[in-house]
Amino acid sequence: MSYIDMKYISTYYYANVIQGVIENPSNYLVNLESIFGDSGILNYIEPFKKRSNLHVFIEFIIDSLFWEQYSKLKISNCIDRSHFDFSNLRYITPLEEIFVEYGVDHLSFMEWWEESEEDVLEERHFEEYYQELVLLEGYYEVIELLSEDVFYILFLNRKFLQEFNEIFSSYLSMCEGDDFAIEYSKESSLKHHLRKDCKLKRVSIPSWVKKAVYFRDRGACTKCGKDLSGYLSLENKENYDHIIPLNLYGFNDVTNIQLLCKECNSEKSGYKHATETRYQSWYEK
Ligand SMILES: [Zn+2]
Repeated sequence: MSYIDMKYISTYYYANVIQGVIENPSNYLVNLESIFGDSGILNYIEPFKKRSNLHVFIEFIIDSLFWEQYSKLKISNCIDRSHFDFSNLRYITPLEEIFVEYGVDHLSFMEWWEESEEDVLEERHFEEYYQELVLLEGYYEVIELLSEDVFYILFLNRKFLQEFNEIFSSYLSMCEGDDFAIEYSKESSLKHHLRKDCKLKRVSIPSWVKKAVYFRDRGACTKCGKDLSGYLSLENKENYDHIIPLNLYGFNDVTNIQLLCKECNSEKSGYKHATETRYQSWYEK
């Protein structure tokens, strides 16, 4: 069995921020450009990785957020302000709390402080502490654990997944006709995945992707709601559809797949991207 252990309550805060970045990418243009621009998007085209594109994206944003938190941290904002007696100082900075929640070994701010042999606490010390923290193994372990939790929440929301994949497809579409992208894709292993027009080749969908999507969409067509479990009718076969079609530079990623029935799938053209925002409620009212 594969379980995740959601220990850290602020997961929803990070999920919310990621959603904000996707909805208003212009606010974060520099960041997105730095990972996807200049053919950087081609680093994400390998089909159906279990560490999906959304995982990678979440990790990137969380890493930036952590840095931002430390660069803006004020002494007065620290969680434990009860001991201003310097000899008994117990500052706990935000990231330390996450390490503690996930039970990952780390260098505490107090340990760092004692080693630093500084006399007066200044805000620049938070940044210096952070610079050391990122060099430790536990830092990326915590990011991965937190990303897995955030993914769990965001994967349930198909509208979000559509918007997320639209950003990926828009960057991939910019590669078409781009000389650098064309050369780059020829020289590396990427050419197995790319067509000449920079659209991705169709590949068979692995069974773990089908299972994930089937369970998320509760074995029913996301458009018409038809039950595809096979209990009611053997004719209702499930179809695994790309939310953003490959024709529109969609990705072979678990986040870009949804469940449709045969009829709805054949109605949906390969040049249209759509998903439904309707979900079955947990119980009848
Ligand atoms: Zn249908």
